[in-house]
Amino acid sequence: MTDRRPLIAGNWKMYKTGDEAVEFVNALKDTVLEVADVDIMIAPPFTALAQVAARIEGTPIALGAQNMHWEPEGAFTGEISPRMLISAGCRYVIVGHSERRQFFGETDQDINRKIDAAAKAGLAPVFCIGETEAQRDAGETFSILDKQVKNGLEGLFSENLKSLVVAYEPVWAIGTGKTATKEQAQEVHAFVRNWFAKQLDPEFAQGLRILYGGSVKPSNVNDLMAMEDIDGALVGGASLDPRSFSQLVHYNS
Ligand code: PEP
Repeated sequence: MTDRRPLIAGNWKMYKTGDEAVEFVNALKDTVLEVADVDIMIAPPFTALAQVAARIEGTPIALGAQNMHWEPEGAFTGEISPRMLISAGCRYVIVGHSERRQFFGETDQDINRKIDAAAKAGLAPVFCIGETEAQRDAGETFSILDKQVKNGLEGLFSENLKSLVVAYEPVWAIGTGKTATKEQAQEVHAFVRNWFAKQLDPEFAQGLRILYGGSVKPSNVNDLMAMEDIDGALVGGASLDPRSFSQLVHYNS
């Protein structure tokens, strides 16, 4: 058995203004004040970070960002740096989400730089990996994941990756209502943990939190969380409503 702390994380994508984010936090926070055995993170859009940061003080809710650039500063119009996120109160940053790979051309190499920069700056990277439906149908799931993890972590060492979180998000299950079965998810999570044990360090692999993401909702979270290698959830749609997000956080009660 392990003592990995579960993490329930919300990815709001391009939803909620600052005022809407405040409304969400006001509704959520009293319902999670007593939560002591689950880590909670929400990742609002950049424009709502400051307002959310001010309202989660003294609660178990941690702040995350959905993306960042790897440079500390510079002439990169439209980008946000790790130190800006730290100063805005973030503790986590989502890196390599499939929507960033698919719509913004993010490569494994970009992701590698981001993971390195985030970890060095003191942000916990939530490193997203996952296969498309066509890749799964072609029997390529494990080779794709192997490549994504290998390239994403190339040249990085376990000492610098202590805060790393991996999120397995099959692309075909994101926002589609199709969830991987608990057995499908467990099979991949075990594969990923084994990858880390073999390629990096067995002890590191045992402590690594691997989240599942893809249409997680209150009705399926329990089954997923019961699996040995599933240590939490990265949630899109069901994280936008304070009631359903709170139910996810309380999956075990
Ligand atoms: C996500 O965007 O990371 C995600 C898993 O979305 P959803 O829960 O809506 O499938």
